[in-house]
Amino acid sequence: MDSLLNLLNKSSEFLTAKGVPQARLDAELIFAHTLNCKRLDLYLQFERPITPSEADLLRPLIVRRSKREPLQYILSSTEFFGLTLKCDSRGLIPRPETEELVEHLVESYKSDSPSEILDLGTGSGCLGLALAKAFPEAKVTLVDQSADALKLAEENANSNGLSERTIMIQSDWLSMLHGKKFDLIVSNPPYLTEAEWESAEPEVSDHEPKAALVGGGDDGGDDLRRIITEAPDFLNAGGMLGMETGINQHSSLKETASVTGLSDFRSENDLSGRPRFVFARR
Ligand code: GLN
Repeated sequence: MDSLLNLLNKSSEFLTAKGVPQARLDAELIFAHTLNCKRLDLYLQFERPITPSEADLLRPLIVRRSKREPLQYILSSTEFFGLTLKCDSRGLIPRPETEELVEHLVESYKSDSPSEILDLGTGSGCLGLALAKAFPEAKVTLVDQSADALKLAEENANSNGLSERTIMIQSDWLSMLHGKKFDLIVSNPPYLTEAEWESAEPEVSDHEPKAALVGGGDDGGDDLRRIITEAPDFLNAGGMLGMETGINQHSSLKETASVTGLSDFRSENDLSGRPRFVFARR
């Protein structure tokens, strides 16, 4: 039987050889998850033997990571805005920059708060569920065209105790929402170009749902523009639209917003200084 340290070293060397970034850290996180302890607790038991049945649990997860499957899919969950969200290939993995979008929105509602919130293309549910947490009085509608993604969002609403204030609707953007009005519409739609998707890390291009990543049009911005065009009919007066975007789309989005009658167009950078979020009001 290998000791924990021996098997960890072998696993991390194997992952390094397969080109996995942060191989040691990922191996440690897979070990901690499988052995049901905190990562740092591994260091207290380096000499202990790994039993054959533990090795049988560890091996397939290390092999999955060696094929560049994202760690979050292997561990089946991630943290987002203080929520623990189930993660699998039904939805995009919630990303830190999307948390920044939530923070910008929370900042925008200092004195009042939105009562009716819509998350378009919700995937795992991360945006809408984080806003349900941030605005405890709000009702949140989670929309996706993928029934599988909506199921994932529903599971996440349930596991985070947010099911009472959330509803799921299967819809291609706003097409099934006639007559409904919201105070806040948010979206992290697909906005990559085909070329950007092709040059993405294998974790993204080989494992995450392509439909959640690649937007239409030369710049990947067709879905963003469609939402800006259609959103005004679904916003209450003064209601806000907030979206995550790619880095090259803001001038086109600003123009679309001015044509569709949205006002107060605002562009915000992410923490690395790139323009990644847009906001506008009806
Ligand atoms: N930020 C994501 C990525 O680069 C893209 C997310 C999206 O298209 N909505 O992988």
